[in-house]
Amino acid sequence: MSDAALVLFSGGQDSTTCLAWALDRFDRVETVGFDYGQRHRVELDCRDALRAGLGAINLAWKTRLGDDHTVSLAALGEVSNTALTRDVAIAMTDGGLPNTFVPGRNIIFLAFAAALAYRRGAARIVGGMCETDYSGYPDCRDDTIKALQVALNLGMDRRFVLETPLMWIDKAQTWELAAALGGPALVDLIVEKTHTCYLGDRGARHEWGYGCGECPACRLRAEGWRRWRRSPQ
Ligand code: ZN
Repeated sequence: MSDAALVLFSGGQDSTTCLAWALDRFDRVETVGFDYGQRHRVELDCRDALRAGLGAINLAWKTRLGDDHTVSLAALGEVSNTALTRDVAIAMTDGGLPNTFVPGRNIIFLAFAAALAYRRGAARIVGGMCETDYSGYPDCRDDTIKALQVALNLGMDRRFVLETPLMWIDKAQTWELAAALGGPALVDLIVEKTHTCYLGDRGARHEWGYGCGECPACRLRAEGWRRWRRSPQ
């Protein structure tokens, strides 16, 4: 198995922490971002600055960081009707899921990531899916990811390992992981350059970063920051 990894890298807090995690342990690390017609492309626009910032924090990371890929998945935006791809307010649906859920998103992302990893010779595919602090998205569940790993390996006759370093930690522990990997420099980079807000708002700078402060993604990020800052360090 090659010691190369492909990281699903959106430019948010979680995927940036995952990228640092991968750079810390694998010899060659490439990144992939998906453009599926998100209403707000701010996250994707953050990616170059974050990659450069990670390289500036640690020389070994800079050496290991390989190509960046962007994949257009406009078809996903066309078939889905969610608050991330349509101009509608964020709300809970009758099914008990927030309408920020894009059905099939992680399944499609991981299938395309695996096809890219196949071509690039990377055996590890790293994603920020998390079951602990999540919004109830069924495609973030550990069982979903494990089932996909089996399906992708059978379907492509490979031995991919789907790595999800955030699966069992909460948002406070995600900040803690960033601090452990890259110290205050990485925490600062995530605060300043990553984007999480569902509304694409970068008007206000909070201690945890930029965002509206009110949407579910901002609230989760802010709450995790407060719990992390309160915990003994
Ligand atoms: Zn927000």
